[in-house]
Amino acid sequence: MKGSIILVLAFVIVAGTMAIPTGANYRKSTQQILRDYYVPDHYPSFQEINHTLHQIAEEHPDIARVFSIGHTWGWNPSTGRYDWPKPLWTIKISDNPDVNESGEARVYIHWHHAREWIDPAFMMYLINSLVNGYYTNDTIHWIVNHYEIYITPLSNADGYVVDGNGNPNNLSGGFGPGGWRKNARDLNGNGTLDIENKWDATGEGVDPERNWDWHWSEGNDNPSDPDYHGPAPFSEPEVRAERDFIVNYSIDAQCVLHSFSAAILIPWFYTSQNAPHDAFYRDFAKHMALRTKLDGNASQHFEYGRPDEVIGYSAPGGSSDWVYGTLNKIGIAVEMEPTYTWYVDGFHPSTSKISTYIQDFYEAMIYFIEISSSKLKPVDEASNQPNAYIVWGYAKDDSGNPLQGVTVKIRNTENGDEIITTTDEHGFYMLNLGTLQNKYTNTTTFEISVGSATQTFTPDSEMGSERIDITTSSVPELSPALPMFMLAAMVAIVVKFSRP
Ligand SMILES: [Zn+2]
Repeated sequence: MKGSIILVLAFVIVAGTMAIPTGANYRKSTQQILRDYYVPDHYPSFQEINHTLHQIAEEHPDIARVFSIGHTWGWNPSTGRYDWPKPLWTIKISDNPDVNESGEARVYIHWHHAREWIDPAFMMYLINSLVNGYYTNDTIHWIVNHYEIYITPLSNADGYVVDGNGNPNNLSGGFGPGGWRKNARDLNGNGTLDIENKWDATGEGVDPERNWDWHWSEGNDNPSDPDYHGPAPFSEPEVRAERDFIVNYSIDAQCVLHSFSAAILIPWFYTSQNAPHDAFYRDFAKHMALRTKLDGNASQHFEYGRPDEVIGYSAPGGSSDWVYGTLNKIGIAVEMEPTYTWYVDGFHPSTSKISTYIQDFYEAMIYFIEISSSKLKPVDEASNQPNAYIVWGYAKDDSGNPLQGVTVKIRNTENGDEIITTTDEHGFYMLNLGTLQNKYTNTTTFEISVGSATQTFTPDSEMGSERIDITTSSVPELSPALPMFMLAAMVAIVVKFSRP
C-alpha cells in the first residue's frame, strides 16, 4: 500500500508537468492553410466529390465521418431514366466523430441550385481546410474540437448532373449560360426528364429552395418556371432528407449557399419585414460581410440584409426561413461571387476565378461557424439577444509557455453574466458573447480572467471578434476536467498496483 502512494505522488508530478507543454503557438492565417492544402482549378464532378469525401474520412478517422442523409429522384442522363438514385453524402467534421457531444454547437452547410457551381467547390475547399487545418491552425483545431460541422456539398445532385456535372464543356449543348436550377423531378410522370435546349425546365423539376413549409403557398406554382415550388411542401426527397437531418441532429445554425450576387442574406426571406431577431442577424451578417473580399480586393465587401433589400426579391418556402421560423435556430443564406452582373456567366464563373471567389468568402464562413454557438432566445425576448462577438487568444505563463486546461472566464461587470471555457493544449481559448444570458452594448465593460490575472475590455470592435492574450505568473486554477482526469488516473493506478 505504501508503494502505491509513492507511485501516485510521482504520477501527479509527471501529470502536472505534462499539462503545461512547451512549444510555439502554431496559428497560421487561414488563407495560408488553403494555399498549403487545396487550390481548386476546376469544378469537381458528382463522382469526384463523392470520392474525395470518402477519401478524407478514410485519411482523418479521428475527426471525419461520411454518411448519406437520403437520396435524389435518380435521374440518369445516360439511360434517360430514373435509375441512378444518388446518395446525399454528408460529412461530419468534429473530434469524437461517432458521438453527438452535448454542449457542442452543430452547424449545417448545404446547397440547392444546380447551376450555382462555385458553392460545391467552396464546400470541398472548406472541408479540406478543416481536416488539414486541424493539425496546423489553432482556430480550426478549436472549432473542430468544440463544434460539430456537417456539410452536404451536393444536396441537389441530380440537378448538378443535369447542368453539366461541373464540366464547362457540357454546358454548350445543354442549357447555355442560363443553366439548370431545379432538381430533376419527373413532374409529368412519363418516366423521363423532358427538358429543352433553353433557359430552364419546361414543366419539369422543382426548386429545392422553395419547397420548405414556411409560407410555401406564397411561392411560384407554375411548373415551367425556374422557381416552381413543387406540388406540396416537402414534396421532394432531397428536401425531406435535409429537413429530417436538421431535426434529428438538432442543428443549431444553418447556412445554405447560393450564387451569384456577393451577399449575406438573413431572415425573413419570404417577406420585406424584419424578423424578430433582426438586430442579432444584422449584427453578425455585417461582421461576416466585413470578412469578405470582392475579386480579391480586401477593401470591398459582400452586401448583407434581407433578400428584398439586397437582391431585389423575396423568396417564400426557403430553407433558412423554415429553420429559423419553425425551430428558432439560426438560418441564413449566402450568395457567393461574382457580384450582380451579367457581363460574364455568373452561375458558371471561369475556372480561373474559382480560387479567388472561394478565398474571398472563406474567412466569413469560419466566423459563421464560430457564432453558431449563439443561442436564439424565444421570439418574445428577441430584442434582448446578445450580439455574436468572438473573443479568443492564448493563455501563457511568464516564460511564454502555453497554459493547457486552465479556466478562462468572461464576466459582464454590470450584471454579473459570465461564460467560462478552458484552454486547449496550445493555451488557446475562444468564447462567444452571443451565448451570454443578457444583452450588452458596446459600452459594457467585461472582465476576462485566467487564474488571478484579469483585464477588462469592451466589445466595440467592428470586426466582431477580438484577440486577448493573457500572461499570468500565478498558478492558474485548474479546470474541473483536469483534476477529475488526474483523479481517475490515480484511482486506476492505485487499483492496478494494489493488486496482490
Ligand atoms: Zn440559388
